[in-house]
Amino acid sequence: MSAPATLLGADDRRALDAHFGDRVTFDEPLAPHTWWKIGGPADATISVASVDDAAHALRWAFKRKLPWFVLGAGSNLLVGDGGMRGLVLRLGGAYDALDVRVDGDEVVVRAGGSASLPQLVAQAASLGATGVDGLAGIPATAGGAVRMNAGTDREIGEFVREVRVQTPSRPEPHAMWVGFSYRHTTLPRDAVVADVTLAFPRGDAAAVRARTHDRLVRRKATQPVALPNAGSCFRNPAGDRAGRLIEAAGAKGWRSGGAEVSPLHANFIVNVADATALDVSTLLARVHRAVGDAFGVDLHLEVHLVGEFVA
Ligand SMILES: Cc1cc2nc3c(=O)[nH]c(=O)nc-3n(C[C@H](O)[C@H](O)[C@H](O)COP(=O)(O)OP(=O)(O)OC[C@H]3O[C@@H](n4cnc5c(N)ncnc54)[C@H](O)[C@@H]3O)c2cc1C
Repeated sequence: MSAPATLLGADDRRALDAHFGDRVTFDEPLAPHTWWKIGGPADATISVASVDDAAHALRWAFKRKLPWFVLGAGSNLLVGDGGMRGLVLRLGGAYDALDVRVDGDEVVVRAGGSASLPQLVAQAASLGATGVDGLAGIPATAGGAVRMNAGTDREIGEFVREVRVQTPSRPEPHAMWVGFSYRHTTLPRDAVVADVTLAFPRGDAAAVRARTHDRLVRRKATQPVALPNAGSCFRNPAGDRAGRLIEAAGAKGWRSGGAEVSPLHANFIVNVADATALDVSTLLARVHRAVGDAFGVDLHLEVHLVGEFVA
């Protein structure tokens, strides 16, 4: 595999170094930042600690006409082996903020873009936030969950009161209306979720905690939690489940290099032995073809493929 051609010249690197100091690294593999533990180097990875940091990075990338990407917990991403060109922004610092409180007959949550969804769920459940159990066990950031409209039978979009974003043309945080549907939002590609406010009807805390606990236990029993994975690879087609179709197509246990269709849950691909993005994408294509051939169903990816895929 040839080395990826960086888009950042020496002047760019000096400019980023001068502004971000030790918050920027160059040519670092993204694999450690993804749940699949797969992905080549980013030209620059910036630990964005404040609203001003993000505004600066967005303005700078816009002026230099460079691509940029905001990385959450990396739990829904297949990053190509060639890595990513331009800037990868990892929110942290002020964006980790999480405030959960009772407000009359509601539980109101204000979460920064990189706040932990599992922590949000635990705190909101302890105050009786009805429906938050539907988000239990999703290893996301609040921003990534909003972007994906993450959920199960309940989705985060149902509870959103306000989303504030930063964009290259308007880099200070501002409210934006967002439409939510199954694993999809109307959020523009160039919008960084700075924070989100959620509101849940307040119910019986012990009952919500118990439901949350049950969901976590069920996940441990039905999902391959011990191996690197990115959750469900394909969206469920209308009226059916992708996992059922993949299993019925006989794909459980199929291997490509170090990637395997999980024998436990057919819609999960696990990294069993230093899998590459090419291994996973080859397996995804094989599964897609098998389900199409067997049932005439055109499965759509739920995981996002990003960066450069090289043979
Ligand atoms: C074990 C496991 C179980 C899972 N179970 C579920 C489940 O039950 N339901 C479900 O819906 N998903 C599930 N997932 C998938 C995944 O957790 C969700 O899609 C989640 O919302 C991804 O959030 P993230 O922070 O990891 O985002 P990432 O994977 O890092 O990124 C996903 C997308 O969100 C964008 N993004 C991230 N942060 C921001 C931000 N601040 N502003 C704007 N865009 C942003 C990224 O650019 C990218 O396009 C599971 C994954 C795993 C590994």
